[in-house]
Amino acid sequence: MKEDKRRNWHLNTRLNHPVETELHEGNKPLLQPVYNSAKFSPAEGIPLWDQYIYSRVSNPTVRQLELTLAELQEQEDCIVFASGIAALSTTFLSVLKSGEHMLTFRELYKPGRMFIKDYLKRFNISASVISMKDINQLESFITPSTRLIHFESPTNPNLEITDIDFLVKVARKHNLILSMDGTFAGLHQHHQFDIDIMIQSLTKFANGHGDVIAGAISGKKDIIASIRDMSLYLGASLDPQAAYLITRGLKTYQLRYNRQCETALKIAQFLSEQKAVRRVLYPGLESHPQHKLALKQMKDMGAVVSFELDAGSKLTAEKFCHRLKLIQFAASLGSTESIICPTNIFFGQDLSEDDRREMGINDYSLRLSVGLEEFVDLVDDLKAALNLTL
Ligand SMILES: *Cc1c(COP(=O)(O)O)cnc(C)c1O
Repeated sequence: MKEDKRRNWHLNTRLNHPVETELHEGNKPLLQPVYNSAKFSPAEGIPLWDQYIYSRVSNPTVRQLELTLAELQEQEDCIVFASGIAALSTTFLSVLKSGEHMLTFRELYKPGRMFIKDYLKRFNISASVISMKDINQLESFITPSTRLIHFESPTNPNLEITDIDFLVKVARKHNLILSMDGTFAGLHQHHQFDIDIMIQSLTKFANGHGDVIAGAISGKKDIIASIRDMSLYLGASLDPQAAYLITRGLKTYQLRYNRQCETALKIAQFLSEQKAVRRVLYPGLESHPQHKLALKQMKDMGAVVSFELDAGSKLTAEKFCHRLKLIQFAASLGSTESIICPTNIFFGQDLSEDDRREMGINDYSLRLSVGLEEFVDLVDDLKAALNLTL
């Protein structure tokens, strides 16, 4: 029918309605196609909103990613976003109403912390941002208007481990919603806990190749549905091409994560033997203050190593990053290439002097995300920058 019609159409019309290629029934591609279409025409006889209509609202390629992530995280449903920070801000704006209060920790990922401190108050939403070392006093910060506890584990950038069992107990006792940003632990950890909202920056380990920005929230159906309602108006929908790249990246997620963890542990051990390194923070090292807790609640110890150079050598974190040749000086983490950044410049600027000192963020502190390069090449690069082989 349409093919017949085409013959009468002028070039401009034909260019705007390209020939459709159709497959015989049963002649299946191995990969589901990427549905780039922003619009879908509805089928007759099916309720309109049960169908794909408009890709800001829903799209089959994006939905494939959501269903894959929900399955991977052992949750009922998932919604994806155009960034990890969109997942965070949409969560807060969906769950909290004017007049309500949330509890969180100062050790939080900086943009999340700044959104909570500087922007939520515009909506008359208050927050207590407490130190992780005061976690045992958490209940004393709960007020009748408290609705949400939000936390990370391990924290960005200094890899503190949060006692999740304890937070679940507090949340259940006081009837609060518990949300966790588990980006550093990845998608395969912490399923054993009764966490209401599991947030991930997919930009990191999920995509894994450093070419997409995206975020996700997984949880029970009703919570995801209410977050989805708000997300339609905030509009940070994920593009189908980006969703496809993440679905592709996920195929090697476990392989990459395991290998990155193995190398990260060896690098943490190497660094902790160096005189020029004052301290190393890696949950898999016995010297980590919460190593036992990490062993109790984590399957893998992660691919990020934080460390602090000895101030006596006058080699600042920034200078050290510039000296490295293989390990890249850049923001972000969880990629196939190793990435390093000075934590003070990237994560300390909004904190008080006291907070920075207590959190171990200073001109000598660094965060290293370990990639898939050979361990010996990474160590050679670190040695050269530490002046051990020059
Ligand atoms: C990177 C990151 C985010 C933000 O994710 P984007 O995809 O960069 O927006 C949120 N939380 C943590 C812990 C992160 O590391």
